[in-house]
Amino acid sequence: MSDTPRKKRVAAIKGTHDILPHQARKWQRVERAALSLFELYGYREIRTPVFEATELFEKGTGETSDIVMKEMYTFTDKGGRSLTLRPEYTPSIARAIIEHRLNLLPDPMRYYFIGPMFRYDKPQKGRFRQFHQMDVEVFNEKDPAVDAEIVEMAAALLESVGVTGSEILVNSVGCRACRPDYLRELRGAAEKSRSDLCPDCQRKIGTNPLRIFDCKVETCREIARGLPKITDLLCGECEDHFSRFKGYLDLYALPYTVEPLLVRGLDYYTKTTFEFISTRLGAQDAILGGGRYDDMMRDFGGPDICGIGFALGMERLLLLVPDEEASEPFLYVVWMGEEARKAGMTAARTLRRHGFEVWIEYKERSFKNQLSRASKLGAAWGVIIGEDEAGRGTYQLKNMASGEQREKTLEELLSSLRISD
Ligand SMILES: [Zn+2]
Ligand SMILES: [Zn+2]
Repeated sequence: MSDTPRKKRVAAIKGTHDILPHQARKWQRVERAALSLFELYGYREIRTPVFEATELFEKGTGETSDIVMKEMYTFTDKGGRSLTLRPEYTPSIARAIIEHRLNLLPDPMRYYFIGPMFRYDKPQKGRFRQFHQMDVEVFNEKDPAVDAEIVEMAAALLESVGVTGSEILVNSVGCRACRPDYLRELRGAAEKSRSDLCPDCQRKIGTNPLRIFDCKVETCREIARGLPKITDLLCGECEDHFSRFKGYLDLYALPYTVEPLLVRGLDYYTKTTFEFISTRLGAQDAILGGGRYDDMMRDFGGPDICGIGFALGMERLLLLVPDEEASEPFLYVVWMGEEARKAGMTAARTLRRHGFEVWIEYKERSFKNQLSRASKLGAAWGVIIGEDEAGRGTYQLKNMASGEQREKTLEELLSSLRISD
């Protein structure tokens, strides 16, 4: 006898996770709630490839952003092309719009998407390298009512999946007309506190001083609070947009806080930014975040149309979603002998065609054994078939909770299940 060495066990890659059946039900519940809600607001799904040309994301997120510099999963394929697993969704959707000229269709440009994203991030609670996002984007609608409606939809989404106690933060980050002056002022002010800022923020003074507001270091946050705020220096158009946006939030009776530090990490935001936070998530408290990006499509070489959207991390949202109610009631077919097995198979097929969940297991076991398994698995009803029933063409329908049992034809069985449904 030769000792073949056991194969080394391969485990899931760090920063990835399996979604097991008992968890997947919760995922499905949240996804279903989201997509039916999004459809109510006139959004339609777009699915794009998981990987794209690397330059798409370099262009999209801005070459100085942390995502591009540190977190992209970039690789060279066998054809020598540089490809990247998408770290965010917006650039892909912008590409798809341009490629398929979706802006020339009469349909509203309202899109949603649910799927995996990839970032080489430090894994931590609720954060993964392959993580899942829900993404919502509206293009070609520049009215501030759209900004308020999308925030209202986000609030409705959280409500529909039972997430309570979140807060809404809003801000405006200005536009290309008002931001350059503001950035000059910000840079000047940040320069004065340079030595007190963390090395990362010191670097940001030169590259993108807005990002100082994203820093989580306490001393930096303290300094950031004292820096000039863009909301004090908005141009007329941005000022008007921001105040009407807030007015429409009031119309919906949505409570919100204006947070001047809320500038969002990405270069392409203009005007409105918003975030939903929950203290239940600890320091990493954002549930979803988004904003307007009126110049992004043009920057991508596309049509000059504005956009607004938000992204929501599924893993983090699921930490806040209450656990599932009891699963759907199902039937468990109990049989003994070949004729009863056949009758059971036929019954299972018919019941499933009528929309009932039916479990039948193809192992010879005693009635007692099967019935105890049915109740352990949580079946609502047992459909019991012995030799006699198989001969008569009937079934014993057993209510697993009450123990009550009645002999029925398949026709009667169906109608009595429909009533108790
Ligand atoms: Zn402006
Ligand atoms: Zn800092």
